[in-house]
This record gives sequence, structure tokens and C-alpha cells, in this order.
Amino acid sequence: VSTPEAKLNLLNYSRAELATLFKEWGEPAFRADQLFQWIHQRGIADFDEMTNLSKALRARLHDLATVTVPEIIVDQKSTDGTRKWLFRLDCGNSIETVFIPEGKRGTLCVSSQVGCALNCRFCSTGAQGFNRNLSTAEIIGQVWLAAREEQVTNVVMMGMGEPLLNFDNVVRAMDMMMDDFAYGLSKRRVTLSTAGVVPKMRDLMAVSSVSLAVSLHAPNDALRDEIVPINKKYNLKELLGVCRDYFSNESRRKVTFEYVMLDGVNDQPKHARELITVLQGIPAKVNLIPFNPFPGARYTCSPMERINAFREHLIKAGLNTIVRKTRGDDISAACGQLVGDFKDRTKRSARIKAAVGME
Ligand code: SAH
Repeated sequence: VSTPEAKLNLLNYSRAELATLFKEWGEPAFRADQLFQWIHQRGIADFDEMTNLSKALRARLHDLATVTVPEIIVDQKSTDGTRKWLFRLDCGNSIETVFIPEGKRGTLCVSSQVGCALNCRFCSTGAQGFNRNLSTAEIIGQVWLAAREEQVTNVVMMGMGEPLLNFDNVVRAMDMMMDDFAYGLSKRRVTLSTAGVVPKMRDLMAVSSVSLAVSLHAPNDALRDEIVPINKKYNLKELLGVCRDYFSNESRRKVTFEYVMLDGVNDQPKHARELITVLQGIPAKVNLIPFNPFPGARYTCSPMERINAFREHLIKAGLNTIVRKTRGDDISAACGQLVGDFKDRTKRSARIKAAVGME
């Protein structure tokens, strides 16, 4: 007799791992392909519906395994069509996932951790602190649930958390996103965003071919030390070095640099000039992100004219630059607004204020 806790959650298994498990059970490897298709392509969690598996295998799966996803607590739609889910993981822990439709594209913004340890000064997830890593099942479970209801064409690891600090689970989940027996997304449509955990970026390059986005936000070490504190550990030179290598390795892909526009902080013409200098020689795209406010934030967003002037400046220097549209801010679904809290909003804002030293 097994308790539900003791059952294996099949969402934690890559297709190769499933094949290994099946081998132990005396099942041929192609059964893993079939099961993967049922679970991930068709969104089926009930073993009884998996009619091309033998009765004996289905009975065994019943006894030993489950397909368990996070529980949906809130499902909100923005006036602009952006949709945000709040998932409960276990007592006290929850995460947010955002779906952003735009024409034929449907981008899912997936979380990798509960909270975040990096404490970027302009990010509300950072202000919340770090709680724990998500399991593979909790990461791919966000895709599993969203794909049942929406046409997910792209995934960005840009929700709560620093994905490279939950390396194994994130890489396994991204492999599942790109697996033809699962979600079948091309490597151009799966993007990992990092604040700059340099050694893990090198590890990623060695094992995965996903697209890379880097949260740069500042063109010099003095300013970046202040607003993206991990820069004190891995400075700009090291960070941009690995970005250069990322392009010159076999994938030869441009790196996307994200740059949040903070009024009076990093948005001056001299910052644009410095940015042009440091990005020289790196095949890059630049995404300027208008700062999204949150309770207790110590910054405001640069005025639109200044953002556009900054963009013009970069474009004149030959840098492919866009201003990211703010989506879903009416439901706090915009970049940097995800906190995954559902209990008590007043307590939350007090905690954020305390965390950023406002109280
Ligand atoms: N930890 C990873 C993944 C998060 S991606 C990373 O830092 O890249 C979320 C993106 O939104 C990052 O570029 C982050 O710097 C940016 N961001 C955080 N807070 C923001 C805010 N308040 N307004 C706009 N962008 C923000």
C-alpha cells in the first residue's frame, strides 16, 4: 500500500528518465514516449484514458504514480488579454505564471523559484526574499496547465526567481518544453533570463541551446553593483565575456539584454553612450523595459520621451532596440510585479517596505 506522498509524480521525469524507470518495470522504452505524449501533448492526467498502454501498465501506474500539478488559486484576466494564474504549492508557498497573447504569438512567463535571493533593487520578487526552489513538476506544471487552456507558442523563464540558481530542475523542464514528444517548442521559442550568474551561464551553454536574455540594467559596475547586487560577485566584464562566448559557440545566437528604465538612475544620455561602448562586438538585442511600480518601490519609471530618446540613441549606434510593452499591469502581472502572495496584501506591502528599508 502506498500513500499519495510516496507516489512518483511523473511530471518530474524527463522522457529519458521515464524510459529508465520503465526499463526497471520491464516495459519497452517506447512506452515512455507514449506516456509522455499522453501527459504533455494531450494534457491527460488520468491513466485510464491512456488506451494504448496495457491494462497491466495502467494498473501499475495507478498504484505507483501520479500526475500532480500546482493548484490554481486565482485565474485573472487583464483588460489587454494578459492572463495571470496564482498557484498554491504547499502551505504558505505560491507562485505566479503569466500568459501574454500578441497576435499569433502566445508567450508564457514561467516562475522557477518561490521568491528570489538576488535582491535586485527595483524588483518586487526580490524584495520578498527567497523561499525555495521549484521542483521540475512545479515548473513544467505551469506549462501543462496553461497549455490546456491557451495556445502557448513561446516560453520565457522570466517569472519569479533566478532560473540559473535552480539549474537542474530548470534545465530538465526546458528540455521537456523542447521535446517533440511533449511541447515541441524550438530553441528559439524558449528563453532563459538571468541576472548574471556567470558560472551557471557557462554550464547552461554546455548542456542547453535555449535562447538567452540577460538582465543588464546598468552600463557600468558602480551603478550595477547598486541595483543588481549579484554584480559584486560577477562583474560586467565577466558577464559580457560569457555573452560573447554564447554567440561564438555553435548556437551563434544574439543575446537579448534587458534594461529597466529608472527615472534619473540609468536613463541619461551618458548611460546610453556607455551601454553602446560596453556592448560593442556582442551581437545583441536590447529590450528597454519601462519600470513597473509596486508597493514600497523606491524608483519611478522614466518619462516616455526619455525612454524613446534612449532608444533612438542606441538605434543610431546600430543596436537593435525595442521598448517592451507593459502588459497586464492592471492585475500586477507586469515584469517585476510577481510576488505569488494571496494571503494578506496589507501584510505583504508592509513586508516589502521592511525588506527595502522603508519602515
Ligand atoms: N531573475 C531572472 C528572471 C526574471 S526576468 C532575471 O533577473 O533575469 C524578469 C525581468 O523583469 C528581469 O529583467 C527583471 O530585471 C525585470 N524587472 C524586475 N522588476 C521590474 C520592475 N519593477 N519593472 C520592470 N522590470 C522589472
